Amino acid sequence: MGTVLDLDLPAPELTAQLCDLASPSGAEGPLADAVEAALRSLGHVTVDRDGDTVVARTALGRATRVVLAGHLDTVPVAGNLPTRRDGGVLWGRGTVDMKGGVAVGLRLAAHVPAPASDVTYVFYDNEEVEADRNGLGRVARDHPDWLTADFAVLMEPTSAAVEGGCNGTLRVAVELTGVAAHSARWWRGSNAIHAAGPVLQRLAAYEPATVTVDGLDYREGLNAVGISGGIAGNVIPDRCQVTVNYRFAPSHTEAEALDHVQQVFDGYDVRLLDSAPGARPGLDRPVAAAFVAAVGGEPRAKVGWTDVARFDALGVPAVNYGPGDPQLAHADDERVDVAEIEACESRLRAWLAT
Ligand SMILES: [Zn+2]
Repeated sequence: MGTVLDLDLPAPELTAQLCDLASPSGAEGPLADAVEAALRSLGHVTVDRDGDTVVARTALGRATRVVLAGHLDTVPVAGNLPTRRDGGVLWGRGTVDMKGGVAVGLRLAAHVPAPASDVTYVFYDNEEVEADRNGLGRVARDHPDWLTADFAVLMEPTSAAVEGGCNGTLRVAVELTGVAAHSARWWRGSNAIHAAGPVLQRLAAYEPATVTVDGLDYREGLNAVGISGGIAGNVIPDRCQVTVNYRFAPSHTEAEALDHVQQVFDGYDVRLLDSAPGARPGLDRPVAAAFVAAVGGEPRAKVGWTDVARFDALGVPAVNYGPGDPQLAHADDERVDVAEIEACESRLRAWLAT
């Protein structure tokens, strides 16, 4: 028989129990089993499971529905389990990213049986690996109805600050061509690497915008992230490729972002490598405004791409909000201030009651 989770434990102790049941990506099964069993035993939520993703929902017929979501997996353990409690600090893999958030979600599922909005709790697998394995993405594809909601909170570590939405990201290759020749007779060739010079100058001169979306400021960026060219030490290269990453505000679609990059590199051969849309923070919605009022603090824009974009793609605006210093996520000395876990729980509890 597997571990039995005790949702009556205070959130820091429950966090430790969740961390000690190690669950690096791809090995979430025993933890997902324990989470599923704990949620099924509650009686006041319906529980669905897909792979190692567990979804629990209240069905109170409320006018609005909110999602509280967290991933069950961690990056590999680095000799930092079992957890160790040292005063107000809990050390170990997963304490920050993100079993403190999972513990808070489980505690709320157990102890807020009659929230003011219906609540969907999502605990999913494979967040820390390639995007196509992501459990939230799989459920969004195969069971989008499980995720229907007006607003979502992803309980990733943010040091208990509201981080709304996220920038989109896009990569293109700017292709330069020339004519190959022996470098001893260089005048017979045309150097594709030299042709990259003006491309790099455009990047260096580019002034990225800061765009305000739903009240939050998103700082854009356009940067070379790779360059390749040349086949031998005595050959004038006939090919060079500059890889450029554009981080764009969530008010722009992927198509608009690509259009912008093509304008910046007008006259060049620009090829799209990959892209992912941003996510609007949706803080203009009443349910989101109530969330910000309940948890307090000044919301800020999320810098990196996160799974909030998966919710946005389903029409559900989403923010990140959870315990733990994100700079300690994935670190060998990963550790969390347990007071932050308790504060997140009490603030979210207050929000769900309003
Ligand atoms: Zn995470």
